[in-house]
Amino acid sequence: MNLIPLPAFQDNYLWLLHDGQRALVVDPGDAGPAQSYLEANGLRLEAILVTHHHADHTGGVDALREATGARVWGPARESIPGPFTRLAEGDRIEALGLSFEVLDVPGHTAGHIAYYCADWQGAPLLFCGDTLFSGGCGRLFEGTAAQMFDSLRKLADLPGAARVCCTHEYTLSNLKFATAVEPGNSQLIHYRQQCEQKRSHGEPTLPSSIALERQVNPFLRTRIPAVAQAAHRHAGADEADAVAVFAALRQWKNEFR
Ligand code: ZN
Ligand code: FE
Repeated sequence: MNLIPLPAFQDNYLWLLHDGQRALVVDPGDAGPAQSYLEANGLRLEAILVTHHHADHTGGVDALREATGARVWGPARESIPGPFTRLAEGDRIEALGLSFEVLDVPGHTAGHIAYYCADWQGAPLLFCGDTLFSGGCGRLFEGTAAQMFDSLRKLADLPGAARVCCTHEYTLSNLKFATAVEPGNSQLIHYRQQCEQKRSHGEPTLPSSIALERQVNPFLRTRIPAVAQAAHRHAGADEADAVAVFAALRQWKNEFR
């Protein structure tokens, strides 16, 4: 089986899984890149998985469903182009012979979900939409800092080997911010160099892994003293309050250039 990040718009990826015959696509904001890939490779689209309602994740759903007859799954608490099967925490779906568990991860949007496959070619696979990015996290459009903090902790507690398929190539700007928060993190500095190399060759920095994100992503490191101290220095956050540290980091990132 193959896992392909298809670039769309400025910095989105539509993730496509296929076995040479059948395919699954996650968050098709634009049908075009998916359709081209399906045609070029002679694939039949069976499933469309949606993490949240934003247009850059759903804009291609109708065109793909009409062109292929693919079944659509999406978040129970959000409205996306229907018909679709509504999913929430604890639900399981089968697609391409794989089993995906649904996780509720509110914060970026109120009903955001993620899809977790416990074993895909020897390691877990996570489609997390705009919740967790490499080196960063989604903006809080509809949820609270406490909700997003809990959602990110749920993802951080997954096995370290889990491959993290985020839907935006925001890694370099995230790592610039991460370095401002935690300039002494040598793994972060090394990872940033690797990602700069990849981007200079036009390669995606994704998928990442949960183990890597625990080492470099400040939003998963709010209990690390250097991170908590930086949030305190920047915004007066109580270093002992991990949610307050998280909220201060998220606000700081919103203003960071
Ligand atoms: Zn979004
Ligand atoms: Fe998005």
